Amino acid sequence: AKQIGIDTYLFFDNEMQLNVSRILKIDSAMHEALTQKQFYLEYQPQVDIQTKRLKGVEALIRWKHPEMGIIPPLDFIPQAESNGLILPLGEWVLETALKQLRSWLDKGFQPVVMAVNLSALQFKNEGLDKSIEALLKKYEIPPEYLELELTESMMMENPTRAITALNKLHAKGIRLAIDDFGTGYSSLSYLKQFNIHKLKIDQSFVRDIATNDDDRAIVSAIIQMAESLGYSTIAEGVETDAQLEFLQQNSCDEYQGYGFSRPVLAEVMEEKFLSAKG
Ligand code: C2E
Ligand code: CA
Ligand code: CA
Ligand code: CA
Repeated sequence: AKQIGIDTYLFFDNEMQLNVSRILKIDSAMHEALTQKQFYLEYQPQVDIQTKRLKGVEALIRWKHPEMGIIPPLDFIPQAESNGLILPLGEWVLETALKQLRSWLDKGFQPVVMAVNLSALQFKNEGLDKSIEALLKKYEIPPEYLELELTESMMMENPTRAITALNKLHAKGIRLAIDDFGTGYSSLSYLKQFNIHKLKIDQSFVRDIATNDDDRAIVSAIIQMAESLGYSTIAEGVETDAQLEFLQQNSCDEYQGYGFSRPVLAEVMEEKFLSAKG
């Protein structure tokens, strides 16, 4: 074993105890949270880059714990992934998002695409396409109104298997987007075999596009490549006019980010962004 000094050891131990106890606390709280309805969804607009017309919304999970307050998704999604709770949680997200879309359609709003994030475990789950199909049927949602966001690294874990799984979902008419694109090292040869509709350009490339030549080159290359493969593009994390201008000039299709709107509750979505069917 590695020799470490007593100071290092104590420091490390304290840090670890803090982390471990928070992890354990979140772990047991998560089970309760699902039954006690502490989770809810927010929706962030995805808009046409030229006209700013609303095309879709991304559903983002939120957790409000009675004592710990708002716990950000990145503090519990990875844990839910490792303890398996992501499966019922992911199912809850899908159902809640589709139920919400049904309610918007019933209220007479123009249809929008509902984008839902999937976790790696959900994507690997054999019954995924069947359970999605059942939910679409239950809420009478045409499959092309649902878009699944799958990260590039999820695909690259086992590309051959991903290709098969994507084909199955694609055949059912469900829209597919690769999330966090540019961070997962997929090769061009795989990319063209992925039966998808959209690439989401990761916000880490968007952040500095107004000033950084490398990022400008990367983003413009991603957009051109997507176009030649027949995929549409959306940039995430767009905050400023300068970023938006660059994306407009480089023919990105859609954007999403604080510059247009933060994620909001369903009621705010209705008041501010959804429009009545003409
Ligand atoms: P993501 O899928 O890449 O989602 C985008 C994240 O960027 C969201 O953070 C969103 O609120 C944030 N964002 C949007 N616009 C901007 C902007 O202009 N600037 C900045 N700095 N951030 C922006 P959020 O909601 O905290 O979610 C974080 C991650 O948690 C998501 O990243 C996704 O990986 C995961 N997640 C969220 N909801 C779900 C869910 O329902 N299921 C699964 N499996 N994962 C989820
Ligand atoms: Ca996403
Ligand atoms: Ca993303
Ligand atoms: Ca991300």
